Amino acid sequence: GATLGMLGGGQLGRMFTTAAQTMGYKVIVLDPDKNSPAGIIADQHICAAYTDESALAELAQLCSAITTEFENIPASTLAFLEQRTVVHPSSTALASTQNRNVEKNFIRAQGIATVPFVKINCSDDIDNLGSQISFPAILKVATFGYDGKGQIVCEDLSAVYAAFDAMGQKECVLEQRIDLEREISVVLARGQDGQITPFPVAENVHINGILHSTTVPSIAAESLQQTAIEMASKIAEGLAYVGTMAVEFFVSKQGDIIANEIAPRPHNSGHYTLDACRTSQFEQQVRMLCGLPAGNAELISPVVMINLLGDVWGNSQPHWNKLLTQPDIKLHLYGKKEARAGRKMGHFNVLAAETSQAMELASQTFEAIKAD
Ligand code: ATP
Ligand code: MG
Ligand code: MG
Repeated sequence: GATLGMLGGGQLGRMFTTAAQTMGYKVIVLDPDKNSPAGIIADQHICAAYTDESALAELAQLCSAITTEFENIPASTLAFLEQRTVVHPSSTALASTQNRNVEKNFIRAQGIATVPFVKINCSDDIDNLGSQISFPAILKVATFGYDGKGQIVCEDLSAVYAAFDAMGQKECVLEQRIDLEREISVVLARGQDGQITPFPVAENVHINGILHSTTVPSIAAESLQQTAIEMASKIAEGLAYVGTMAVEFFVSKQGDIIANEIAPRPHNSGHYTLDACRTSQFEQQVRMLCGLPAGNAELISPVVMINLLGDVWGNSQPHWNKLLTQPDIKLHLYGKKEARAGRKMGHFNVLAAETSQAMELASQTFEAIKAD
């Protein structure tokens, strides 16, 4: 079979690699870390910086198509590869999602609501805020933030000045903090022919800005779920996106649906598809990259996904036996050597005939596996 390239060696790249290898492809991972989760299982691992042109040229020469698992690959890296081989998503699609201000302006240009926000580039921008944002607000660094890192809640204007200093006066976005009714996300696949195949809407719970659990089906109203799918599809079309991507949404207490951010890659809230859908988000990523038709995205079973962060490890090994002896629980570990607080080490999916049963077993099990 053909050889596929993956920029980035994290867990998303690892699950792509597994899916591609299962389907008969070879995978070459490019990542600067020699112990990266994807690099250690790939057919070949090119250990180099994302800006290393000789390494990129080698990757392009060896691969019939290249994709990414990480939105912070420099867009110039994808542009370089696009001159030499097939690359999806495109450098321009990626560029629209790398900076929170650019991303929110792009979302609004599609006619989709975002939270009220103001770009903060210098302290003058804070002087001139006026009444554009009401408090509490959140100052977020514009680039490279993930898992809630690079975010400071601000209760008043003076806190915004302090937070901007704490961010090293790097470009930020100041967002109004919304009273959330719920958070949902749409993971979808879009093909080279423009055909869109959405997965069922995921309902997400975040703790300290990090995804904790995903439940499917969502209990959000059916019409709201339909709207979210339409909005995510519009964004995918606006990006001329090819591959698997996700859009995170807030649902406000007033019932408004607001786009939070775009992930130009498979998404943590789509990990439930590994066990609960006929096709996983990673198989879909392979299919889109290779110009194959999308797989059937239908839900097979209600499911709850729980993230396993480094915190769970404590001083000893977590009680994996409590997961592995459960017939309806599927454990996925990412092969990371070092457990750190807040670091995503793995996840598990709980399947049950009813969503409420899956939720109950998931929370019981999560409590039980925490290390002593
Ligand atoms: P990810 O790992 O999803 O990329 P991130 O660091 O980009 O995370 P966000 O998605 O911006 O962070 O925020 C993380 C979480 O913090 C959100 O899912 C939500 O729970 C909360 N949050 C962020 N912004 C707001 C807001 N404006 N109003 C209310 N809650 C918010
Ligand atoms: Mg993000
Ligand atoms: Mg997010």
